[in-house]
Formats: sequence, C-alpha cells, structure tokens
Amino acid sequence: MLSENTSQDSAKKAVLSEVSAKPPQVERMEDLVGAQERDELIVRFWSFVKRGKPNECWPWTAGKTGQGYGAFYLGNRQVLAHRFSHLLSCGSLDSSVVVRHICDNPPCCNPAHILGGTQKDNIQDCVRRHRFPKGIKHPSAKLTPDQVKEIRVQYFAGKVSQKSLSVTYGVTQSLISGIVRFTRWT
Ligand SMILES: [Zn+2]
Repeated sequence: MLSENTSQDSAKKAVLSEVSAKPPQVERMEDLVGAQERDELIVRFWSFVKRGKPNECWPWTAGKTGQGYGAFYLGNRQVLAHRFSHLLSCGSLDSSVVVRHICDNPPCCNPAHILGGTQKDNIQDCVRRHRFPKGIKHPSAKLTPDQVKEIRVQYFAGKVSQKSLSVTYGVTQSLISGIVRFTRWT
C-alpha cells in the first residue's frame, strides 16, 4: 500500500514536470496574421506536412523541437506544428486547451490524431499512462497498446462506431468507450 502511494506520487510529479515544461501557448488565427496572409500561411504550413491516408500519421518534414514536435515559424515566432494543425481544424485555441496526440507520435500533424483538452484532462491522461505504462502486462489486459492506439485512431477518424469496434476487437463496448474517453488504458 505504502509503495503504491509512493509510486503514484512519483508518477504525479513526473506528470507535473512534463506539463510545466510545455512552452506557453495562446493562439487564435486572428492573433497570428492578418486575413490576407492567412491562406498563404495555411498553404505554407501544409507544404511541410507529408499527408497520407486519413488514418495514417502525417509527419512534419521541417525542423523539430528537442521533444520531436514539428516547429512552424511565423516570422521569428515558433508555433508547435501539431498545435497549429489543431488550430486550423478548430478555428481557435484557448490558452487553457492542451493539445495532445492520440497516436503518441510527436511530429504527427494529422488533425484526426490530435485532441484538444483541458490541462486537467492532460494530467489525468499522463497519470494514467505512468500508472499503467505497460497495458499488456496489466492483469486484465485484453488488448495490446498498439491495438488501443488503433482503436482510438479509427474512432477519432469518425468512421467506426464503438459497437463495431467492440465486435472487431472482441471486447465489451464499455471497454471501447473507456479507451476513446481515455479513462481506460486497456
Ligand atoms: Zn499520428
């Protein structure tokens, strides 16, 4: 019991340091550039992304940050590429929105692989990942981490229902629901 608490505390600390290490980011399209420059900017952004099929990762092909995220430059200002991709698909992005990858692939810019949530969502998500870093070894694991990733990718691409995923993967619909809401690791 004691060791479990200690390991949860250290997981929380690791998560907090991860979250606080993220650069400050506040962006709305209106803040970034004037309307006349916007189209040109969008074309320039996508020219750095190797776009594939809707369910594939779309890697950033230009410069990256130390953590492997794509770095897009607006003049001398750096914007994280996956964050910019999310901004384009959402129209605006509040400073409280934390953008994360469902594919765990930092350079990926596929909007279907990028989710926006609150910092609280992000901390909970990170804590879960630290607590169950190896889903496959968890006693109740029925799915491999790769399958969990595939399920999220398919679901967020909007093509497959939770029910059909539960049939495909031979698990309950409530498990699928937990996976896509990030409340269940496996
Ligand atoms: Zn991806």
